[in-house]
Amino acid sequence: MRRFLPGEDPTAALDAAAELAKSGIGALLTELGEQVTSPAEAAAVRDRYRAALDRMRERGLPLPAQLSVKLTHLGLDVDREACARYLHDLARRAGETGSFVWIDMEESRYVDITLELFRRACAAHDNVGVCLQAYLRRTPADLESLWPLRPAIRLVKGAYNEPPAVAYPRKRDVDASFGALAAELLERATRWEASPVFGTHDGNLIAQIAARARVRGLPRGAYEVHMLYGIRPAEQRALAAAGVVVRVLISYGSAWFAWYMRRLAERPANVWFVLRSLV
Ligand SMILES: Cc1cc2nc3c(=O)[nH]c(=O)nc-3n(C[C@H](O)[C@H](O)[C@H](O)COP(=O)(O)OP(=O)(O)OC[C@H]3O[C@@H](n4cnc5c(N)ncnc54)[C@H](O)[C@@H]3O)c2cc1C
Repeated sequence: MRRFLPGEDPTAALDAAAELAKSGIGALLTELGEQVTSPAEAAAVRDRYRAALDRMRERGLPLPAQLSVKLTHLGLDVDREACARYLHDLARRAGETGSFVWIDMEESRYVDITLELFRRACAAHDNVGVCLQAYLRRTPADLESLWPLRPAIRLVKGAYNEPPAVAYPRKRDVDASFGALAAELLERATRWEASPVFGTHDGNLIAQIAARARVRGLPRGAYEVHMLYGIRPAEQRALAAAGVVVRVLISYGSAWFAWYMRRLAERPANVWFVLRSLV
């Protein structure tokens, strides 16, 4: 368990972040949870994230830690306007504390509303980014519509079980889509029209991205690579040592069982890590 989740509260996540900082790696914090069903719960999530931002500032890590939030955790299914307000609250507090808020992308039925709330947040804040999923057939069109915002985009392959009409079912098509979208993002980055982040552990794609960035003469920091805590840690350190800006997403919270099951579903080989930690 500890391999993927250093602990249930933000202090444990920040301790792990301080360890990563020794290797020049930054951190993103996320509290586990999604699809909350009560307004009070959503408000409590916002309050805990605000407190976490304060704790992050107190730690004074060399690369300020960032937040990654799920809109359904902030009550998207319960009250959209309240969810939009909570996102603004967090972006404002993050701005005051030198931090940044990433909006995760959830199941495909949430893409329209997630992008709408992202657009609204961008109108008031310059420290908010959104995740886009390469497996979705619609993503090139979504990206096209976002360029006027000069957006911060975290590109990932996509983690949910989507029907073939919506998402590419074959891994090689997802990888090809990721490659094409990454090329487009890097092209825009050369003109300061986008701030790309690549959320992947795929060594081939990361090598392709680095080669493209070199050819385009992109400076350090023009793009970042984000990975999950505990996954390919040696590669995380090697990339940081090679001068790439690397951040690691650290989860905390008590809703770890559902989350852990998702990690297993993504990659059944993880079952060995579960068995080992149970022993
Ligand atoms: C920072 C970050 C944020 C993310 N946010 C979102 C989001 O908002 N929405 C969303 O849908 N998805 C999100 N994801 C998950 C993403 O969509 C993929 O499911 C996940 O990253 C695995 O895909 P991959 O790009 O690493 O490539 P893969 O082809 O799956 O993996 C490449 C290699 O990485 C290693 N690897 C990958 N996953 C694991 C694992 N679980 N355990 C051990 N080794 C592994 C393996 O060696 C594998 O061969 C996020 C991922 C990251 C890193």
